[in-house]
Amino acid sequence: MNLTDLTLTQAIAALRNREISSHELTQACLERIAQLEPSLHAFLHVAAEDALAQAKEADKTGANDLPLRGIPVAVKDVLMVENMPATCGSKILEGFVPPFTATAVKKLQEAGAIVIGKTNTDEFAMGSSTENSAYGVTHNPWDTSRVPGGSSGGSAAAIAARLVPAALGTDTGGSVRQPASFCGVTGLKPTYGRVSRYGLAAYGSSLDSVGALGRTADDVAALFSVMAGRDPLDATTMDVDVPAIDMAGGRHAASLRGMRIGVPQEYFMDGMQAEVEAAVRAAIEMLKTLGAEIRPVSLPHTEYALPVYYIIAPAEASANLARYDGVRYGPRAAGEKMWDVFRRTRGEKFGPEVERRIMLGTYALSAGYYDAYYGQAQKVRTLIKQDFERAFELVDAIAAPVAPTTAFKIGAHGDDPLAMYLEDVFTLPANLAGVPGLTFPVGFDGEGLPVGMQLMGAHFREDILLRMAHAYQQVTDWHTRQPNP
Ligand code: GLN
Repeated sequence: MNLTDLTLTQAIAALRNREISSHELTQACLERIAQLEPSLHAFLHVAAEDALAQAKEADKTGANDLPLRGIPVAVKDVLMVENMPATCGSKILEGFVPPFTATAVKKLQEAGAIVIGKTNTDEFAMGSSTENSAYGVTHNPWDTSRVPGGSSGGSAAAIAARLVPAALGTDTGGSVRQPASFCGVTGLKPTYGRVSRYGLAAYGSSLDSVGALGRTADDVAALFSVMAGRDPLDATTMDVDVPAIDMAGGRHAASLRGMRIGVPQEYFMDGMQAEVEAAVRAAIEMLKTLGAEIRPVSLPHTEYALPVYYIIAPAEASANLARYDGVRYGPRAAGEKMWDVFRRTRGEKFGPEVERRIMLGTYALSAGYYDAYYGQAQKVRTLIKQDFERAFELVDAIAAPVAPTTAFKIGAHGDDPLAMYLEDVFTLPANLAGVPGLTFPVGFDGEGLPVGMQLMGAHFREDILLRMAHAYQQVTDWHTRQPNP
């Protein structure tokens, strides 16, 4: 048996039954990382020795006491893990080692998981391709001349290439869902406030959420149910019960009778890749075959989501990134006066996309423009949120594409930031509304690249989305296909 072929759910069962040891599994992941990293560059840091030592400890205790005991996971490099470098894909944090661990990661560790390394990301999670990482692009395992999506591209590529069974990502405007889709894996962006953001390097604080990636809906559910919950260290987290999500699949019969799925016409726009639309429509038909009722719904303010997001996210980023001044974290440029040090450090260490966002955000927040840009964007954000609230009075979930295209070539959007921003058109609305979104593979295009579909749900109803995707994965095998990087 090839241990890296095990899904997270299978690995958990094999460890419990003592068919495999955590040390064997961790070793197998490390060997595969060593073999494929040169062509993929999914990781920014691999903690091989620590992971093996923890695996040995886990084997001593046995795997029956904790849900994730002995499971190796990868963590996107914008989440802090004590004593592991955290660069956020930026030169401004080169060499920074945080003295604490993000709550989401800590909860996984308390459940027995082993952090095997940190995955590549667009700088401060700003991007849709991982090309904005200051440490080089990650390659898509399905075609290494293409991007893995972003910003959690390292996590998605690592799972697709079977370097690890599961990983954490973050999603501010699509950064879990779009790379999951481009790499043919399953990814969940939870409800805003469901998973603590403590220990996540803040990008857009009202939009950021910590999500999970795996090969199947079961895998993602296993991580999600451990990470979710109120955290006194993040005041926006809420105490809402996570409905029991049965990973064994027994309780979710492959039947969606009684479930209503809405299809918003605004998400099937002109100019999207025909194969993407065809695969998503076929998946919706399959959900219908499973018993779901399919209904048209309307989210009329969808077209404003992109401009609204690209005002609010940079505005929040411009404030959040003010803390990187060369004094508190990371390297410091030389200068005689304090302001010279700040200016030089930021000028030298931030990449062009981060600088662009800081300038856009500062402009949108400046006196005289605040009402016209930031204030107006907040009002339209409310309309977008209300669109979803109305739709969820009629349906249990909304089905839509994840991105207008499959994975594009590295460099394709090189000098056109707007073309890159357009990649996010279908994922941003869920962040603006704070609702959960789940993506999973539903087909391939003519070039052999995966196509994903997105299900969005009402606040705190991740369980419905996971149940639907699980039912779909019981009767399809897209999620079992494997690239050959
Ligand atoms: N691509 C979007 C951006 O650049 C979303 C990124 C994210 O979700 N972190 O802002």
